[in-house]
This record gives sequence, structure tokens and C-alpha cells, in this order.
Amino acid sequence: MIHAVKHHPAQELLEQYIEASLAPELSLAIAAHLDLCPHCQRVKMDLEAEAGAALVNLAEEPATATEWQQMLDFITAQPELAVSMEKRQPFALQIQNSEILLPASLKPLLQNKLKWLNLGGISTAKLAGEDQHNVSLLYIRKDSEVPQHTHLGLEITLVLKGKIYDEAGCYGEGDLLINTPDHTHTPRTMSEDCLCLSVLTAPLKFKKGLTRLLNPLQHLFY
Ligand SMILES: [Zn+2]
Repeated sequence: MIHAVKHHPAQELLEQYIEASLAPELSLAIAAHLDLCPHCQRVKMDLEAEAGAALVNLAEEPATATEWQQMLDFITAQPELAVSMEKRQPFALQIQNSEILLPASLKPLLQNKLKWLNLGGISTAKLAGEDQHNVSLLYIRKDSEVPQHTHLGLEITLVLKGKIYDEAGCYGEGDLLINTPDHTHTPRTMSEDCLCLSVLTAPLKFKKGLTRLLNPLQHLFY
């Protein structure tokens, strides 16, 4: 990847990811970011090593070589961990007439044909929406704007392709935007289309003039 990832999850969020205490959809966004971000992969490995060391310190007696081997055998026998140790290959998907490489973590959610809803330059396709955390792909055509909005909950956006801009900066492939009810922003694209993964724990709230009329169209975004 040419773009160096600049916007990362806070360490606290990575710790919760490692402890598996995040809601599954938030965990998915972090997993997909990790697929794209060597920096956070290293931080995660360090945090896991620290946790492992803390575990060893808890033990009354130092572990013998045999015990270590048994522990390693046990860990590598866990199917989920074995999978996470495999090289995580990105996969290609045809989206809006172009083939886009996506992080491996998203593959299980993209087995079925996507159903796109379109509004002007913005298209959304839900990946899962049965519970309170809504997961969708957001495709924003070049020179388009998502109307200014605030958030009733947490909004996590992971840029998968292209670039998105808002009042706080520019975000490229792999960058993670985390917005809370304290943030109001107007994401927009410039010269290229942009594909994002969007996780919302509550609907967006549109703020300005006529765009407030979008609030009843929440099903597009949430
Ligand atoms: Zn990162």
C-alpha cells in the first residue's frame, strides 16, 4: 500500500479488541483496520506480549520448557488463533464497476450479492443490520458530500479505497475515523471515488437547512 496509514484506533480500543470485549461490529472495524495497518499490527503484538508476560508473572513457579511447549501447543490448536496466524490475504470484489481489494476480515460478510441504495453521489449497502450496530459499505463518488451531521452514538469509518476529507483532515486507505456525539462533520470526496466501511451504533443526525429533511431517510445510512 502506497498510502501510510495515519489515523489509528486509540490503544484502549486495541486493548478491548484483544480482550474480545468490543461489540462484534466494532471488533470487525478494528480487525479490518489491522489488516491494512502494519503499525497497529506491531502495537497489537506488543500488547499481546505484555499480556502474556503478565500472565507468566502471575504464576507462582516459573514455567518449565515442557509447560511452555504445552501452552504453545494449546494456543496453536485453537482454530480461531490458527486462522489469525495465517497470512491474511486481501480479496478482490467488484464494486460499482471497479475491482477493489478488500481486507480479509470483511470476507465473511461479503459472500452475498450487495444491495445498493443510492442517493445522489452516495451509495450504501448494508452488511449486517439486525442488531444495534449497523455495518455498511459506503461508496461516495468523486466531488460528493455527505451532508453535515452529528452522531447519536459512535461512528467508525474505515477508508478502504480513495480518500475522504472532513473539517478535521484527510483520510486515505486504512485510516480510521472515529466520531462521537461531540463531533459534527461534513465528509466529502474530491477528485476520486471513495469506498468506506461504516459502523454506526446509532443513527446520524443531519444538522443544516434542507438536509435536515434527510433525517427521515435514515435507512440509507443506518
Ligand atoms: Zn493503525
